[in-house]
Amino acid sequence: MDCSGCNRCTEINCSIDTKCQQLDRSLMDQYGAISFPIYQTATFAHPGLGESTGYDYSRVQNPTRKQLESIVGYLENGLDALAFSSGMAAIATLMELLKPGDHFIIDSDLYGGSVRLFNEISLKNGLTYTAANLSVDDIRPLIQEHTKMVYLETPTNPMMNVTDIEKLSEITKEKGLLLVVDNTFLSPYFQNPLDLGADVVIHSGTKFLGGHHDTIGGFIVVKDEEIDEKLRFIYKTTGAILSPFDSWLILRGIRTLAVRLERAQENALSLARFLKRNKHITRVIYPGLEEHPGYEIMKKQARGFGAMLTFEVDSEEFAKSILRNVQLIYFAESLGGTETLITYPITQTHADVPKDLLEKNGINERTLRLSVGIEGIADLICEFNRVFAIADKETAGDK
Ligand code: PLP
Repeated sequence: MDCSGCNRCTEINCSIDTKCQQLDRSLMDQYGAISFPIYQTATFAHPGLGESTGYDYSRVQNPTRKQLESIVGYLENGLDALAFSSGMAAIATLMELLKPGDHFIIDSDLYGGSVRLFNEISLKNGLTYTAANLSVDDIRPLIQEHTKMVYLETPTNPMMNVTDIEKLSEITKEKGLLLVVDNTFLSPYFQNPLDLGADVVIHSGTKFLGGHHDTIGGFIVVKDEEIDEKLRFIYKTTGAILSPFDSWLILRGIRTLAVRLERAQENALSLARFLKRNKHITRVIYPGLEEHPGYEIMKKQARGFGAMLTFEVDSEEFAKSILRNVQLIYFAESLGGTETLITYPITQTHADVPKDLLEKNGINERTLRLSVGIEGIADLICEFNRVFAIADKETAGDK
């Protein structure tokens, strides 16, 4: 990477671990606070008529948020990053780039909230879309006269399908389509879609970037000046901004992104191998397992496999028993924190996804999703052994 002009250091070719520690020096105040201050202010005094400190009103820009936007843009190798009050606010703002009559293509397996947005808001706004399994389907026959955008996650939530971003970007570039990748599951620590040909990156900052389940936030990262200008205009006009305190929390979270993700990934791989051995588990979907169809693509386009895994058990009752009996692991929505969470996509994250789409994607009452944390692996395995033993007993009569 060419480091010149990053406003952080001048000579070192930084690794991603180091980048997580690098504040934008050009934005630091005169005291040099290493924990960047929370500028809890709505407005800023002007030095004189027609003069500005660079900050006028916090809906448009705020120093704490700007420091965060700078580091997220830097981690994603983008031109600019915009910080939002949630991941969904980021995606909703992105959709304002399209106009009535436009068409877009989405991956059929996406976070349920994104599907709800496209179905309930985008369609009402005069947009149409086509869903396809972008990890295997050719998008060429799906492109229409007014197609403007292709939107995906890789790996997808929750079925962990992996799309070759570079290969897809060859088509989107040729056809003049905007390629948008929601990079929440891997975070910039493991994957940089802009380097692979994507035009826009989305993040739920709530997840690995924040890392502690203590704030909600979202990002759009771009590499093109014209798109950036359009988004900045929509941003200040619609106002779904991230507050100074929440910006500070995510700034702090990013400092430990590397160590958290390395440890969580190590645990995820161990758990994936462990789960595969249980007779009640019919399927373990983790892209770090060699048998995963996206394994080779992940090796090519990412620096790791992440800490998310999905598994399927042999009955709905077995799944429900697990959810009732976890103690060390939390039964909760969301992902990307230091604690291991188990989620039931069918009633939680994907409750608003139409039934036929769920079926098509293979999401059912037996599907469970894990966001693996940084606990001791022996304790996680012990927890699963305990929970599986109970579930075994509770469901023994059902078979
Ligand atoms: N994208 C993905 C992949 C998600 O999993 C989520 C939430 O779970 C979102 C976007 C939405 O983010 P938020 O909950 O911060 O609005």
